[in-house]
Amino acid sequence: MGSFGKLLFFGGLVALANVLGGWLLARPRATVREGHLLRYLIALGAGFMLAAIFIEMLPEVVRLWAPHDSQAELGHAVLGAMTLLLAGYLLIHLFEHTIAPHFHFGAETHTEAMLAPAAAYTAIGGLSIHTFFDGVSVAAAFLVNSKVGLLVFVAILLHKVPEGFTAASIMLASGRSPRQALAATAIIGAATLCGVLSVAALHARVSEAVLYALPFSAGVTLYVAASDLIPEVNHMERKNPMVSVVVFAGVALFYVLHLLIEG
Ligand SMILES: [Zn+2]
Ligand SMILES: [Zn+2]
Repeated sequence: MGSFGKLLFFGGLVALANVLGGWLLARPRATVREGHLLRYLIALGAGFMLAAIFIEMLPEVVRLWAPHDSQAELGHAVLGAMTLLLAGYLLIHLFEHTIAPHFHFGAETHTEAMLAPAAAYTAIGGLSIHTFFDGVSVAAAFLVNSKVGLLVFVAILLHKVPEGFTAASIMLASGRSPRQALAATAIIGAATLCGVLSVAALHARVSEAVLYALPFSAGVTLYVAASDLIPEVNHMERKNPMVSVVVFAGVALFYVLHLLIEG
């Protein structure tokens, strides 16, 4: 498979997982409210994602940015990479939480917070910016090499079903129809694919695109793992302490795959 075909295949799979998550909730005669499986997926995804950021993405960022002749140049380069990381983190905070009045992962149970006409749209809009960079992460990781690509793909994939579920849940809580809920999941899935295609298009013109895309999307992914998923794990843990333990299972799963996938 050519590198563009690979990006499209794995990018398409993560985008489809969004739609699957929405369909679980919005399909006719849906019975899932928030299944145990989804709760565990959020926790597993959080642990796997944190390990993938610190053990896979950040070492690659350092490797890409580090080769410099002088200490002063190196310091400058590291500062540049870390600034991109911070910018990615803050961008998602801005769109998911500063601009959107109410957003969190998992089932939307606060119907009162969703009554403001724009609340659901700003939440879906913020989530679409996040999912765009889910796509950027997967594509940038595959441009580094296939091992980094596959591990980041799994990290992103694990949270995609709960993410689609979240989008559908926001729409239903705000009084929209199941059809509109499914449309919202199609939008966040499409945004994911746009992220993949943007990196592919940019890479074809500027070969150092990945240099900037990787630290920025690592910052976004850090926000998703540490500030979207982990708070939801902590929230669910009050009802089910096992959910918290599954985060460590996610880290362990990362290490197993890390060993199994040849570099
Ligand atoms: Zn809520
Ligand atoms: Zn995401």
